[in-house]
Amino acid sequence: MSGVRTTCPYCGVGCGVLVTPDGAGNASVKGDPDHPANYGRLCSKGTALGETLGLEDRILTPVIGASAASWDAALDLVADRFATAIREHGPDSVAFYLSGQMLTEDYYAANKLIKGYIGTANVDTNSRLCMASSVAGHKRAFGADTVPGAYEDLDQADLVVLVGSNLAWCHPVLYQRLVAAKKARGTKVVVVDPRRTATCDIADLHLALASGSDAALFNAALVALADRDAVDETYVARHVTGFDAALASARASDPAMTGLPVSDLAMFLDWFTTTERVVTVYSQGINQSSSGTDKVNAILNCHLASGRIGRPGMGPFSVTGQPNAMGGREVGGLANMLACHLELENPAHRDAVQGFWNSPAMPDKPGLKAVELFDAVAQGQIKALWVIHTNPAVSMPDADAVARAIKGCDFVVVSDVTQTDTTRLADVILPATAWGEKSGTVTNSDRTISRQRPFLPAPGQARDDWRMIADVAARMGWCDAFGWSNAGDVFAEYAALSGIAGDLGRDFDISGLVQADYDALPPTRWPVSAQRQGGRFFAQGGFFTPDQRARMLPITPRLPVAKTAPHYPFRLNTGRVRDQWHTMTRTALSPRLNQHIAEPFLEIHPDDAATLGLAPATLARVTSPQGAAILRVAITDRVQRGQVFAPMHWTGETAPTGRVDALVAAVTAPFSGQPESKASVVALTAL
Ligand code: SF4
Repeated sequence: MSGVRTTCPYCGVGCGVLVTPDGAGNASVKGDPDHPANYGRLCSKGTALGETLGLEDRILTPVIGASAASWDAALDLVADRFATAIREHGPDSVAFYLSGQMLTEDYYAANKLIKGYIGTANVDTNSRLCMASSVAGHKRAFGADTVPGAYEDLDQADLVVLVGSNLAWCHPVLYQRLVAAKKARGTKVVVVDPRRTATCDIADLHLALASGSDAALFNAALVALADRDAVDETYVARHVTGFDAALASARASDPAMTGLPVSDLAMFLDWFTTTERVVTVYSQGINQSSSGTDKVNAILNCHLASGRIGRPGMGPFSVTGQPNAMGGREVGGLANMLACHLELENPAHRDAVQGFWNSPAMPDKPGLKAVELFDAVAQGQIKALWVIHTNPAVSMPDADAVARAIKGCDFVVVSDVTQTDTTRLADVILPATAWGEKSGTVTNSDRTISRQRPFLPAPGQARDDWRMIADVAARMGWCDAFGWSNAGDVFAEYAALSGIAGDLGRDFDISGLVQADYDALPPTRWPVSAQRQGGRFFAQGGFFTPDQRARMLPITPRLPVAKTAPHYPFRLNTGRVRDQWHTMTRTALSPRLNQHIAEPFLEIHPDDAATLGLAPATLARVTSPQGAAILRVAITDRVQRGQVFAPMHWTGETAPTGRVDALVAAVTAPFSGQPESKASVVALTAL
């Protein structure tokens, strides 16, 4: 076999890759020159994909307890324990916890089973930790979770504002596109981030604002737009409501909350109000906040007020962390959504989905969001839990408490590719196919659906996720509804359902792909229907609210919930490093990637290090009200005084002391339920 066209399994850029297998389990990988996300570019992680195909730590057979088991025995047990919990305690006593690593077809199958057949919305995903605030912000402003723009906007903008986004390390190929645009057209770049990240290397202006004060910055921008006659009054009059209340609220907030030098703030406001082609890219620094949804809406307010949305080189742009975070949103992977951007709390939408599925049940209220879900596990309310392709014992906030909750749950099944901290807590482990072995689709940050295609055989007894979900459904008595033969069947059903969503006036409509040649499906940006083809949204209004107008919202900025105090004097920011992904189950297999940064670390300002007597490369004990970690000290003025930064990748297995999410408080944002992963408080001592 040669030249398989597929998609990188890491970040939400969704780069196309060309894979050439050698027939012996290895493969060479290069960028796909025809894929519209990357046009041949790859980052270090994508380039090293060929080094990560080994079977080290792979789960190759079902496991019950500590013993290998047959598929029949494992699936029978899973179906029996879920059915028993539902019979004895009701459908809300079970839950699924999913992942933005899952393919759309797998996500669809899981949601169909738990919402339409089991009858609970207790299904959430690790995307809740990543971009739920953007989803909630989009829905509040636009009436649907619609990303208005496209990657080309980064090529065509004159000013790109990167807010809470270390694009250089977390979305490297988009960063490469921006670097190219800057070279070609002189694009100005503003980085808004308390920390001086690698992305600041191309910044014309770095706004090192106070942690969590982003809404105050964008409120100031809204006031500046109004005061400098930069509001698009025609657009607002035709397509927007709430302008006056939003502006009044913005005027009431104090830009001094940002802590920015007056001259820097003035320069930003000058550029932001006088440049037409502005893209505001935002990511986890906005989303992972107890006021994340409001921060998103503060950004959206500015683009709505100025009419700079949905036109070339203009718009707000949420970039997602995971390869299929967007697909999960589209398919209803969150506890408060239905498939195809239909609304769980809308009776007509529920009826439409239930009718299409011909299903026996449909929840009429949102289920438990991630933090609530694991709280319910801890309290014994969840009797059976299925975790798919994610490692919550490491990645959830208050990770030690989450690990204890999983350990104490009556019945836990984990489907995954490799052993993780969470599989070690499971009653049943199901071996899943990995990237390169499975077939399906993913959606990237600009709504482009791309195929993942297999080029390796499934090892051992590994099985596709959609199939094992269908196998369990069949054992629970729902054989016909889950009788797909392959991933293409699942996709065709999903595309058909999206046509109903389109008929109901929703944004997500890929019904034009029902008859598509699934195997040959090229990268395709939605919507895809007879009426509309994927481009941009909202240049001419057409929002998905009842009156088709967008909503500007009054935003009162709020700083992080946890306050520093003498016993916890530092604010902990968490994030990614360039060459690792999530909890490193794949990237740690690559010697090349491990050379970049070999162990967990703690960035601290030189003045703070001196005060504490911390020398470079020594160890510090980091404690928070939730837990503790021991990290290698990296002294740098990239972080401000009083702030520290640590990466979130290392697990209990590879570095028993580096589990940074054990330090993070499980504080969440209203509306989105997204945890405040970047603003916990900690104390440090030298070891
Ligand atoms: Fe993969 Fe993201 Fe790198 Fe592209 S930018 S190669 S999708 S990790």
